[in-house]
Amino acid sequence: MSNTNTGTAFGHPKGLFLLFGTEMWERMSYYGMRGIFVLYLVAFASSFGWDMAYFGIDPTAADAENQLNTAVQSKALGILGIYAFWVYVTPVLGGWMADNVWGQRKSIIVGGIFMMLGQFALGTPHAMIEGMELTFLWIGLVLLIIGNGFFKPNISTMVGDLYEEGDKRRDAAFTIFYMGINLGSILGYLVVGTIGEKIHYQYGFLTAGVGMLLGVLLQLALSNKYLGNVGVEPAAKKANLSNVNTNAPLTSEERDRVKVVLIMSFFTIIFWLGFEQAAGSMNLFAKYKTDLVFFGWEMPASWLQTVNPIFVIILAPIFAAMWLKMGDAEPNSPRKFALGMFFLGLGFVSMVMAALQIGDSETAKASVIWLVLAYLFHTMGELCLSPIGLSMVTKLAPLKYTSLLMGMWFFFSGVGNYLAAWVGQMVGETGPLQAFAGVAIMAFVAGIILWLISDKLVDWMHGAEDSSAHDLTEKIEEELSVTATRDGIKEQH
Ligand code: GLN
Repeated sequence: MSNTNTGTAFGHPKGLFLLFGTEMWERMSYYGMRGIFVLYLVAFASSFGWDMAYFGIDPTAADAENQLNTAVQSKALGILGIYAFWVYVTPVLGGWMADNVWGQRKSIIVGGIFMMLGQFALGTPHAMIEGMELTFLWIGLVLLIIGNGFFKPNISTMVGDLYEEGDKRRDAAFTIFYMGINLGSILGYLVVGTIGEKIHYQYGFLTAGVGMLLGVLLQLALSNKYLGNVGVEPAAKKANLSNVNTNAPLTSEERDRVKVVLIMSFFTIIFWLGFEQAAGSMNLFAKYKTDLVFFGWEMPASWLQTVNPIFVIILAPIFAAMWLKMGDAEPNSPRKFALGMFFLGLGFVSMVMAALQIGDSETAKASVIWLVLAYLFHTMGELCLSPIGLSMVTKLAPLKYTSLLMGMWFFFSGVGNYLAAWVGQMVGETGPLQAFAGVAIMAFVAGIILWLISDKLVDWMHGAEDSSAHDLTEKIEEELSVTATRDGIKEQH
């Protein structure tokens, strides 16, 4: 519901590019920190009290050092897992707050400030906080978790608020916004990562905090100019103003639409569970089982982490243009989700090929092409699912629940992240071949199910994706039922 008239650029409201820039700085801060977090924990394990006594390791054992390393690494990964889960749970709370109390604009400023303080807490030099290093670590993480809850769902719903219902540019807008996310993550890996690894991890966190500050300042300086009144009022209040009784229970159509959002979000668990192997099992596969030597020089395995965001930047405009160009032939969002699953599956087929190339050999290494191909497929899948999902939530959510449902969308991705760690361990136990094949099969099955139920899901959208004749009939029926209700015929639900 575009209630602002602040001009357009490249065929989109200018506000889109402000949200793009704000989210870019936030993601630079978020992914930059994530990139060096585990390395920091491992390097400073003794400052946090994680020594042999802490883990109950016998210091006289021959492999005591090794045991300590393994224990510290698993402790660090455990903390990262808990963090990655909770950052995606709090958006439910942040979304509710925005819908009911603060509106999105205030929520993202508060969230941004929390996250900035969180990074600064992580970056506070240990010399200044001797004996309280662990306390500062947890304070930092809690601030980041709360801050993300206020920020992440609400910046995303504002993108949707720039467009009228039924505006065909919405999916393209989210794809452009998604480029901002990934430009931010590349910047984060490069700037925060380099400062963190080459100078000092804590300077990396401070840099991440400054990035977040830039995002907040950008928003404060330009939002009135480019966003008009989008995100100023909480959605529930707006719904009230437009004569919708906010206490009224949802209509059956609204309930259907919420059902679609929840069902499709649920499927994303499988997507993220596979996709998030990137930083875990695929990262380890890259490091230990892939030939990364080129002309005598060995490429750091972590460089492969930037392949996905780089592909997003290259492919996102192509996908956005392709959806628009397809016109009526454009697949609906459940089918795009199904395609996303198929691409994910293909990515794991590529990993299976890598595993087959190694076979039983302990020393053989797979070609890096398989990994790059896997990341290419995963990125194509991501572009069919992640920006489309954000767009779908803003299309389908009843006005007063938009940010809350966006929070739910992220919650499911949190569950996916959590399960990804578990699948990662399985790769370690059963070997890459079976585990990667298992994920591929799961993705294909999920894709087929989604494809099969896609028509039903579109029915339940009640015309929100009204490009086909079928949907037009729905719309007319809808109109008729509204008229009937107005004429005093009570709806039977
Ligand atoms: N990479 C995307 C982002 O940071 C998607 C995250 C997600 O939904 N799991 O926004």
